[in-house]
Amino acid sequence: MHVHAARPVLPAAPPKLRHHAALRLTVTCAAAAASVSSSGSDATGGNKAVIVGGGLAGLAAATHLASLSVPFTLLEASDRLGGRVATDEVDGYRLDRGFQIFLTAYPECRRLLDFPALRLRPFYPGALVFLGAGEPFHLLSDPFRLPLRSLSAVFSPVGTLADKLLVGLTRLRAASTPDEVILSSPETTTARHLEKLGFSTSIVERFLRPFLAGIFFDPALDTSSRLFELVFKRLALGDNALPEAGIGAIATQLADRLPAGSVRLNSRAAAIDQSSVTLDTGETVSGELGVIVAVQQPEAEKLLPQLSNPAKPTKKSERSTVCLYFAADRAPVQDPILLLNGSGKGIVNNMFFATNVAPSYAPAGKVLVSVSLVGSLADRADADLAREVVGELGGWFGAGEVASWTHLRTYRIGFAQPDQTPPTAPAGRNPMVGDGLYVCGDHWCSATFDGALVSGRRAAEALAKERGLS
Ligand SMILES: Cc1cc2nc3c(=O)[nH]c(=O)nc-3n(C[C@H](O)[C@H](O)[C@H](O)COP(=O)(O)OP(=O)(O)OC[C@H]3O[C@@H](n4cnc5c(N)ncnc54)[C@H](O)[C@@H]3O)c2cc1C
Repeated sequence: MHVHAARPVLPAAPPKLRHHAALRLTVTCAAAAASVSSSGSDATGGNKAVIVGGGLAGLAAATHLASLSVPFTLLEASDRLGGRVATDEVDGYRLDRGFQIFLTAYPECRRLLDFPALRLRPFYPGALVFLGAGEPFHLLSDPFRLPLRSLSAVFSPVGTLADKLLVGLTRLRAASTPDEVILSSPETTTARHLEKLGFSTSIVERFLRPFLAGIFFDPALDTSSRLFELVFKRLALGDNALPEAGIGAIATQLADRLPAGSVRLNSRAAAIDQSSVTLDTGETVSGELGVIVAVQQPEAEKLLPQLSNPAKPTKKSERSTVCLYFAADRAPVQDPILLLNGSGKGIVNNMFFATNVAPSYAPAGKVLVSVSLVGSLADRADADLAREVVGELGGWFGAGEVASWTHLRTYRIGFAQPDQTPPTAPAGRNPMVGDGLYVCGDHWCSATFDGALVSGRRAAEALAKERGLS
């Protein structure tokens, strides 16, 4: 199907969120809202656990310790909880720190989060592919949810007819394969896996590479085939969505349920042992029940050098991305859909009009444009990068269309995700790394919201079991 950017291409009604029964964890702790202290001494005393790091993994560990009535203190180095999952409010715009999408089929998210309270706004199940200036965009729809629409794409130049059938078959197979089978299947890179499945170069270069690079920040597609299959399964079984308040709402929801006084912000761990944490101020916070280390991989390896794998050293800038936001008065595409760069040229990987998905991402009457690049692009200053991106998108939508876009902010995310090239352990590793010492975080499971949450739960469960508290 040939699609011209200036017109709406999808049905007028926004896509509806598919219903999922939320299996919510009951948190038995008394307080609904976390009382957070910005620094200061440990006021509660008594035997406690300590959690170092307040990203999704640390928040999940805290949630589970609270549900088991295990007292704890969560130490977070920065001035807020959520780690990599964050949204900034800037002049009425909601800017997620990097392009992040919430997959409603994540099982741990379904157990832990109150979906209706997140007011999730779904993306259209498909993508518009840009192949070159002057060409219409090409729509690729999910063949199972929108069979008629995907039939109309059969003759688009994004892949062959066999590719389109193969996408459907791969999706069907992934959706019906148990997680345990996916996670223990023989492992190769995603690029090699796609080749073995029989996808043509055309669909890989024009659709799958930019689509997957936007998820894994890995344009070489070296990421494990297991992770590809797992994410493909989640995409098949649910929606891609954004919470109305921004992606940070996921972390906020978890943080708001923690017991009063359990969180200390601006508290950076400098040294760790199995029963205490020393902060960079020199203060010692005791954790007789054990210490859960829930920081990102490079920091975890700094605090606990025994976690480093000499065969696979962790780079400081791993799977980097740059996300630029612009304000506009109108959107040249009206639909809540992801746009992919399938041209093989330029620096833009993917972009979308965030307000088409969630109007709450901008003040009334304004449009928020979100553009994602893969890599660090460290050789360009922010202003030059913004100019280059607008110039490139002028080729997509017309120079006149983008001329009035105003640059709002650029996020450079050096360490977006850990290295997930084979060999990996996306089923998760043993959280107990020493007596009273536990590790969690996306690097200990899979680099997804769900992987971080699962790893946090497992660390909390292991600590509670070890101490006879579960
Ligand atoms: C741009 C981007 C897009 C993404 N998109 C998606 C997506 O669409 N879907 C998806 O499922 N996943 C996505 N991910 C991955 C997902 O966000 C992460 O896997 C997950 O949030 C990691 O959580 P974490 O708790 O393991 O680590 P983090 O979020 O990194 O949390 C670690 C925390 O520890 C704190 N800390 C660090 N050092 C110390 C110290 N010494 N003392 C105390 N505290 C410390 C940090 O400040 C931080 O708060 C994306 C990630 C990025 C960056």
